[in-house]
Amino acid sequence: MKDHRLNDTEKGVLVTGGTGYIGSHAVVTLIAAGYNPVIVDNLSNSKVSALERISKITKKKLPFYKIDMRDSAALDKVFQKHPIASVIHFAGLKAVGESVAEPLRYYENNIQSAISLCFVMAKRGVKKIIFSSSAAVYGDASIIPISENCFPEPTNPYARSKIIIEQILQDIHVADPAWRVILLRYFNPVGAHQSGLIGEDPQGTPNNLMPLISQVAVGRRKRINIFGDDYPTTDGTGVRDYIHVMDLAEGHIAALKQIEKTALKKSTQKPMIINLGTGRGYTVMEMLHAFEEVSGKKIPYRITKRRPGDIAACYADTTLARKLLGWKARRGLVDMCADAWRWQSRNPQGYP
Ligand code: NAD
Ligand code: UDP
Repeated sequence: MKDHRLNDTEKGVLVTGGTGYIGSHAVVTLIAAGYNPVIVDNLSNSKVSALERISKITKKKLPFYKIDMRDSAALDKVFQKHPIASVIHFAGLKAVGESVAEPLRYYENNIQSAISLCFVMAKRGVKKIIFSSSAAVYGDASIIPISENCFPEPTNPYARSKIIIEQILQDIHVADPAWRVILLRYFNPVGAHQSGLIGEDPQGTPNNLMPLISQVAVGRRKRINIFGDDYPTTDGTGVRDYIHVMDLAEGHIAALKQIEKTALKKSTQKPMIINLGTGRGYTVMEMLHAFEEVSGKKIPYRITKRRPGDIAACYADTTLARKLLGWKARRGLVDMCADAWRWQSRNPQGYP
């Protein structure tokens, strides 16, 4: 996996949100691929102890800055201190329900962070960026599998903040075609690094299915509510495209390689919008039973009414990721559940 062809100036990657769930796994994967990640996070939704765990896995002590992305002066100092060739921008708020209740906080945090980052990047001549977008931008897509051609119809402020940032990055490229931009639309990341040392550690009550299932299995919660069993799916429960977080992390390495390749060319390369999913959907019931099987724990549940805003089924058309990045997800449902369970059972309360 290590790429010895990288020279020192290409190795520096700023990872914003690097102590968070996906960011921490990306950092581990970046190191394995020979990069030098520099981490920035304001720790609003993650713990500094994630860094020690990353160090344990990688046997490296990494530069970390507790900085709010909106603080461009502080961010600028990081660019001055470290050779940074490209940026992976994970930092942001991500809870859909919260974004409906507090739209201004979401727009301000997510959009202002991206703008402040791009100002500093432009000032320092760093023009390669990968941005964490979401399948949430598609809203209630009528054609499944969902391809990148599907017109985005975000249904909440979180998803709208993603589309706005995608648009901002595209505009920056129009103004200065030297920018290389990849917008990755993730489907449903689950699982953890196979060491069980890092994983998803939601603060407060989780919103997503997988951490809820894991917390029931480990005894932190009594049961799970299944939001509706009357959808037009095989067993009536909702279908989603769950992707192992390490596959997702590897998708970022493939995107970085793609950006590095196109940056060498003089010709302009338009921003790429690429889905990262597996292309296959599982129902809530299938997820629950797979987790029971792997963990040996019974997961009590009850069927409740549909969650407002939920859709029946959502999974990715992954053709473009394969074509443009030469990447596809390799890990299956058993890996997703086994790795999530290893993390949760060894860290019942999450990070210390
Ligand atoms: P996470 O909350 O675990 O990580 C995000 C990190 O960003 C956190 O550590 C948080 O402290 C940090 N952060 C937030 N605002 C910040 C700011 N203003 N300055 C500095 N740091 C800030 O979330 P995640 O699941 O790792 O998601 C990473 C990215 O991927 C997010 O942009 C999210 O919207 C996107 N995404 C996530 C999912 C998912 O289901 N997990 C799906 C699609 C897209
Ligand atoms: N879900 C559920 N109970 C929960 C949380 C989620 O039945 O407590 C269902 C939800 O209706 C959806 C699937 O699990 O069909 C995945 O939901 P999640 O919130 O994890 O992802 P998203 O809906 O944002 O894709």
